[in-house]
Amino acid sequence: MEPRDIDGDLTEILIEEEAIRDRLAELCRRIEADYAGKDLLLVGVLKGAVMVMADLARELKHPIAMDWMAVSSYGSGTQSSGVVRILKDLDTDLHGRNVLIVEDIIDSGLTLSWLLANLKSREPESVEICALLRKPDAARVDIDVKYLGFDIPNQFVVGYGLDYDEKYRNLRSVGVLAPHIYA
Ligand code: 5GP
Ligand code: MG
Ligand code: MG
Repeated sequence: MEPRDIDGDLTEILIEEEAIRDRLAELCRRIEADYAGKDLLLVGVLKGAVMVMADLARELKHPIAMDWMAVSSYGSGTQSSGVVRILKDLDTDLHGRNVLIVEDIIDSGLTLSWLLANLKSREPESVEICALLRKPDAARVDIDVKYLGFDIPNQFVVGYGLDYDEKYRNLRSVGVLAPHIYA
């Protein structure tokens, strides 16, 4: 395979690296204020949330804990069904903990809605959501996202952790994939 510029595979860059960094810093100031004097456990959803987790966690001034879950949602093709299977569970007992779920993107919201109910059943002190991206036009369930990066149009995006066929996660910005990539 010939090396090529990753940006060349995009039709459009939706959110630049600097904008992501600035927005995450704003969210971190709010998180620090909201969790002042409390313990905080960040729960990242693999694999898409790896980048946002890494940057968010390092921007926070408090000594937080991190854990990871991997889930797969069954569905036809690119449509999420809301039927979710845990591929990797947490190592942490959530009882009495303040949990902040860190997600890359909320599309239909079905995956996160399931995950929220699942984590709440483990009797944590609190559970909130931080998501870098949300597609309001794709929502099928209402989800209360306390810390949101950006609302974006209903398009398939890649970069900053988000993949197409496991590629493009390493793109530093968030962009729309060019149609010739799918062909
Ligand atoms: P939901 O259950 O909210 O419909 O789907 C959530 C998951 O679908 C996300 O965590 C992500 O893995 C995947 N997903 C949804 N929209 C996109 C998108 O535009 N690009 C990529 N790469 N993945 C997406
Ligand atoms: Mg995700
Ligand atoms: Mg994916």
